Amino acid sequence: MYVITVAPLKRGISPDGLTYFSSEAYTEGTLLLVPIRNKEVLGLVTNIKPVSKAKTALRTATFSLKKLPVQKDSKKLGESLIKTAKELGSFYATSLGSLMYSMLPPEIRRGEVEIPHTHYVKPGSSKTPQILQAQKEERLVAYKSLVRETFAHSGSVLLVAPTSIEVSEMKKSLEQGIEDRVIIFSSALTKSQLKKAYTELEDFSQTKLIITTPTYALLERHDITLTILEHVRSAFYKTMSRPYLDYRKVLLTHIKYTGRKCLIGDLLVRTEEEYLRRTDVYQAKTETPKRIELQGQLKIISTALDPEKPVEYKIFSTDVVDAINAVKRKRGKIFIFAARRGIASMVMCVDCGHIFRSPQSGAPYSLMRTKKDGVEERWFVCSASGEKKRASDVCTKCGSWRLREQGIGIQHVYDELHKLFPKIPTILFDHLSAKTYKKALFLRDTFYKSKGVIMLGTKMAIPYLSDNVDLSIVVNMDALLATPTWRLEEENLSLLFSLREITNGDVMVQTRSPKTEILTHAKRGSIESFYNEELELRKQFKYPPFNTFIHLTWQGNKNVVKNIEGIVVNLLNDFNPSIYQNPSSSDNAPIMYCLLRIESKKWPNKKLVTALRSLPPSVRLMINPDKII
Ligand SMILES: [Zn+2]
Repeated sequence: MYVITVAPLKRGISPDGLTYFSSEAYTEGTLLLVPIRNKEVLGLVTNIKPVSKAKTALRTATFSLKKLPVQKDSKKLGESLIKTAKELGSFYATSLGSLMYSMLPPEIRRGEVEIPHTHYVKPGSSKTPQILQAQKEERLVAYKSLVRETFAHSGSVLLVAPTSIEVSEMKKSLEQGIEDRVIIFSSALTKSQLKKAYTELEDFSQTKLIITTPTYALLERHDITLTILEHVRSAFYKTMSRPYLDYRKVLLTHIKYTGRKCLIGDLLVRTEEEYLRRTDVYQAKTETPKRIELQGQLKIISTALDPEKPVEYKIFSTDVVDAINAVKRKRGKIFIFAARRGIASMVMCVDCGHIFRSPQSGAPYSLMRTKKDGVEERWFVCSASGEKKRASDVCTKCGSWRLREQGIGIQHVYDELHKLFPKIPTILFDHLSAKTYKKALFLRDTFYKSKGVIMLGTKMAIPYLSDNVDLSIVVNMDALLATPTWRLEEENLSLLFSLREITNGDVMVQTRSPKTEILTHAKRGSIESFYNEELELRKQFKYPPFNTFIHLTWQGNKNVVKNIEGIVVNLLNDFNPSIYQNPSSSDNAPIMYCLLRIESKKWPNKKLVTALRSLPPSVRLMINPDKII
């Protein structure tokens, strides 16, 4: 008889695992159905001991253990997956069960699809990951030749792309001549397509190229010898729910235990990857360029107000209007980038200065418009809490009608384009118009099929720009320069590089701060000096990759918040916590943060991991989040 511990693959129940008697000696990593509150839940065996050795634990147990029914044909996760989960359990200070739960694809978690037979072989020795910093075209050439080479050595290739659209684009670019050997996984697939993909994964008659979003990237297959991480900078490598895994971290850990080769590709890799290259943890695949050559020419259009000549603020400068007209005459394509959603990012009263805010989060409401049966409706939306309510027409404080919208949103830009260029068809690509993958594809295809056309989009449109455009315009660079993330500089540089990459004419950037350093780097393509400066700053401010951020968030009414703060301080006092309030949250419903900056070499630290694991569940823990304020 044995005593086994099973971690339920379900969020929120017994994160430390449940203990059962078992007559079978299941090994670690076996998947079993365990009874929990009259339901059967899939769980992972995390520990097993013969009863004789577990006596002390049994004697102190205050309840009697259930006996687990014998389960035939139980499946087992690969050894490398279990090792990955164990290592990351400390890094994310979370339980093995919750970690495994987030690493498995949704169909397997829900029990709709059985975990594939992985035919797992013993791991090989770990290899140095390579970095390829180059334009998309050059990356595709490299990927193609690596796939051929790997196939020739009887290996399969796993290529991970951050989003469904990128998976589909990669397939299109790489499948020629090997169509029957390409398998794709993404949330854009239908149920039957997914089922087919799972079946193909278990077809071992030939080696495969598996192209997938991060969600499916941990499906194993014994013959995968190479993992490629495409567009490694993308924020979509991070999961949006607990335990907030970063799939780059997960996959690079997994590679260590599988002995696979690894290639990391992007136009501008993150400063973290560059640091690892400079310290020889990673290797450059081709010589790293000091400067990057891109086709589109960056033009900085200063919109700084001249105090001598006060003029009315215009969304589009004269130069930009002229450039749009010129491309229109040549029946070319124009992409216009707007940073903010909705009509405006804030509404205030001209008479009393009142700013409309969400009572829940304290953050200013943004103004958005929707259309229902042809009738326009205006809404206040809180970007922090997602709260939405009808926009007021008058000031709630003084009753004045004179309300002013501030911070130009994409819907406002759309209206302006309509006024200025009534004859140019404009496709709006934002979170409302491109709500589903299908709608987004339709908008993209309409744009590329038309001539003399504008696409106006937010950041989410960029991965859909699969072909060249003749002119790109950044309406308001200043909105991007003010985004509250410590990754700001490289995110902006990356955006401008992406626009230069796909634009065969000018990339026009309107800004009130034309002297900003990042614009110079974007214009010159000077990546080496950018990384030098960025690494220097990050070292000085104790940012990643030098330090690891451990970031806690909690909220509630005053008393609740105070109570939790007491617990946090008590647990983490030895680690120099800094506690601060979200500046846009109200004092009645404060959102509180706690930040620890631990030297990366010293994380995970056992004592701190234990402390973090014992925090109340209402405290959200994130490791290295992009936003800390
Ligand atoms: Zn007022």
